[in-house]
Amino acid sequence: MSTSFTPGLVTPMPLPRGASANPLPEPPIALSIITPIYNEEQNIPKLLAGLLQALSRLNKRFEIIAVNDGSRDGSLAALRRQAMLHPELKVLDFRRNYGQTAAIMAGIDHASGDVIISIDADLQNDPADIPELLAKLDEGFDVVSGWRKDRNDGELRRNMVSRIANRVISRISGVHLHDYGCTLKAYRSDVVKGVRLYGEMHRFIPIYASWMGARVAEIPVRHHAREHGHSNYGLERIFKVILDLIVVKFLDRNFVKPIYVFGGFGILSLLLGAASFLLMLALRWFEGISMISTPLPLVTVMGLMTGVSSILMGLLAEMMVRTYFESQQRTNYMVRERINFDPAD
Ligand code: UDP
Ligand code: MG
Repeated sequence: MSTSFTPGLVTPMPLPRGASANPLPEPPIALSIITPIYNEEQNIPKLLAGLLQALSRLNKRFEIIAVNDGSRDGSLAALRRQAMLHPELKVLDFRRNYGQTAAIMAGIDHASGDVIISIDADLQNDPADIPELLAKLDEGFDVVSGWRKDRNDGELRRNMVSRIANRVISRISGVHLHDYGCTLKAYRSDVVKGVRLYGEMHRFIPIYASWMGARVAEIPVRHHAREHGHSNYGLERIFKVILDLIVVKFLDRNFVKPIYVFGGFGILSLLLGAASFLLMLALRWFEGISMISTPLPLVTVMGLMTGVSSILMGLLAEMMVRTYFESQQRTNYMVRERINFDPAD
């Protein structure tokens, strides 16, 4: 049976769950749009209008999850006004500012669509690109990442530095994209549900996903200069991003068995210490060279000590990994209020 459904025009009466009397049961939500919001009061009406315009053409049931990340301006009030007009808009109000990554994370946790799309609220991304992202997903990809090919941010501040950063990330991660930082991305929900993101890590979702076997594609998207409000980031973000990348890389490859990393290094150190000890003895016995006149005693002691402590650190890390897995249920953000959500969700 094919029924065309235009979200926003029909609002069926709420029925008890599982009720069969409804001749036109609501289809499940196909698409969840997530938008992180920090001081975007003036951008909210236009953002909503743009999203609704792009989404209503798709003939898919959708939800827009706006995460108010502790804004200090009238963003929450603006969201409330929009949520009254549009039941597809759901709002999560954070207790304080937790950062863009936590906001996207919360959106993913609360999303019910099979496809999840993240988009900046400041209108730098263009909702009109959403259909192209979806079309690319339909070609069989699990993640489609936007590439701000003509980027409209300050020249040095963004364009040059970020080009270098993107190269570094591409090299280290082995997942080759031009633009990791573009928030406009589409994911199949099964590849992102359950990822835990910290710091600046939302930009690495394609990397995680690819390591897990997901097919990742990139398409050029539009990028506009900011009209209202201002960017929340400066150059220091580059360092955070690179440090987070090292963590991601380390956690992915070795997280489950940190003892292999620390222990491996520890064993190498022990071997170095032992070799240096034997060389020291050999020099003394066969060449008559006093061990005190060489750096070998120092190398021996350092090697043995570093070796032992690395192995102990590996054991500690193993304990932490276990604790981590057991505390998986915890979130790193707190929600004060949920608007327009189904209470059972
Ligand atoms: N944002 C957020 N929490 C923050 C900082 C930013 O939710 O602590 C949101 C912000 O409202 C915007 C998006 O994240 O929708 C991107 O932020 P911004 O425009 O400042 O970043 P830039 O475009 O300069 O990279
Ligand atoms: Mg921006």
